Amino acid sequence: MMDHAHRVLEQYFGFSSFRFGQEPLIEHALNKKNALGIMPTGGGKSLCYQIPGLLLDGTAVIISPLISLMKDQVDSLNSHGITATYINSSLSYEQQSERMFDIQKGRYQFVYVAPERFDSEGFIRSLRRTRLSLIAFDEAHCISQWGHDFRPSYRSVVGQIQKLGELPVVMGLTATATEEVTRDIQRLLSIEDQHVVNTGFSRDNLHFQIVKGKEKHDFIQDYIRTRPKESGIIYAATRKDIDRLHQWLSREGVKVAKYHAGLSEHERKKAQNQFIQDEVTVMVATNAFGMGIDKSNVRYVIHYAMPMNIESYYQEAGRAGRDGEQSDCILLFSARDIHLQKFLIEQSLMEDEKKTEEYQKLQQMVNYCHTDKCLQEYMLTYFKDPFEHEPCEKCSNCQHTGVIKDITREAQIILSCVKRMNQRYGSGLVAKVLKGSKSQKVRETHFHTLSTYGLLSNLREKDITQMIQFLVAEGYLAVEDGKFPLLKLTQESLTVLKGERAVQMIIETAPTTHRETDV
Ligand code: ADP
Repeated sequence: MMDHAHRVLEQYFGFSSFRFGQEPLIEHALNKKNALGIMPTGGGKSLCYQIPGLLLDGTAVIISPLISLMKDQVDSLNSHGITATYINSSLSYEQQSERMFDIQKGRYQFVYVAPERFDSEGFIRSLRRTRLSLIAFDEAHCISQWGHDFRPSYRSVVGQIQKLGELPVVMGLTATATEEVTRDIQRLLSIEDQHVVNTGFSRDNLHFQIVKGKEKHDFIQDYIRTRPKESGIIYAATRKDIDRLHQWLSREGVKVAKYHAGLSEHERKKAQNQFIQDEVTVMVATNAFGMGIDKSNVRYVIHYAMPMNIESYYQEAGRAGRDGEQSDCILLFSARDIHLQKFLIEQSLMEDEKKTEEYQKLQQMVNYCHTDKCLQEYMLTYFKDPFEHEPCEKCSNCQHTGVIKDITREAQIILSCVKRMNQRYGSGLVAKVLKGSKSQKVRETHFHTLSTYGLLSNLREKDITQMIQFLVAEGYLAVEDGKFPLLKLTQESLTVLKGERAVQMIIETAPTTHRETDV
């Protein structure tokens, strides 16, 4: 049976071999076993249901919460000579009835539908009269209430499809699923453990980089100048930043479009199309841009501001290199962005418990910016990726763009200062005390009388803060989360204070990009 699958892969799609994870999923489906595929963005999830859909008798129903993608998917299948259509709210009632009629007659191999369709009993009745080959749940994590993107309408599809009688093969596909979400999807879609295919989250073609201490505009200008023809997205946090960046880049002669919620639907659609059709090379956008946009040749994603958590970062950065080609994911770090994100959390209407969780996630995002471990590994550990990974040898940490400096003495001074300040203050005030600042807050608290006062006066306050953040990222200090994060000592702190452990930190020299360009 897999020989047929190989032939279809070549004949219809023009590919000579399967990607990691595709083969077992297709095999499960062909053996009529419900299956779940957890594969990273760009991993090739569509083929996992498209090939069984072509080989099994009947019509495959693909449920997708991303209406914007449906038409593209259908057009793409049609272009390969495959009969496919979609049904969603963008169609008139007549168009929908006409398509339903054709579906029942078995005229389509694939039908893409939005979850809301299943609320209609008429739709369910029509499907009952249709011979179905398989039902695929794209973005399957949305059916789990434990997922970060739970959609109740999607969850109710699970109940509705039971009305179809004997079900064909069911397949779930997602790029993000924690253990909890995976178990939930398995339970809801009746998928046995041995039919879950998890390829991990690793994206080997992405080069993660963190740029610190360089003027952001200078960096962007130098970077884009060396790759004028490549497509890239620059994510910024506020509309004001987007408008400013857009104006500035246009003046610099860059073909650029912008996208944020303050623009009209027409303007957003236009910008999106210009980018997809390569009429502009750069898109400056908020994180609203990208969800459901199928552009595979995005060569770089630059974050002008740090996002709120690693989940968002990985998802947004992951919009680079969906075609598998080498691509850059660059985060331009500035400590100011931490304050902005804290402000956003504080202003939000979340419950206190949820806020605390968000502060913790933010701290892990900040830690990512300060760790000296492999950046790819850091994120895979964060996502509890099931595989062992070697350092990627591509990210800015693996490439060691700085010099390694022994900072054991500075670390000991910082830790003892935290201790002397009774572990009740944040990095800002600790840095001021170590710098020997004469600020009012230092005098009010009498910290100018501490023995550690001014012990690092030879360093800039900024560098002291950076060292503190590095110590937090490495676990030599902990942050007690809350509106005002307080520095606390850890078990690791004690080993450093006792001189049992040396602390080394990479001090950035010049930010570089590591991907070869042909320009
Ligand atoms: P996902 O849905 O997992 O993000 P897609 O299904 O959109 O990924 O696939 C991403 C890209 O990879 C598409 O351009 C697709 O044509 C390509 N692709 C998928 N499978 C293969 C394969 N076996 N060989 C080569 N390219 C593939």
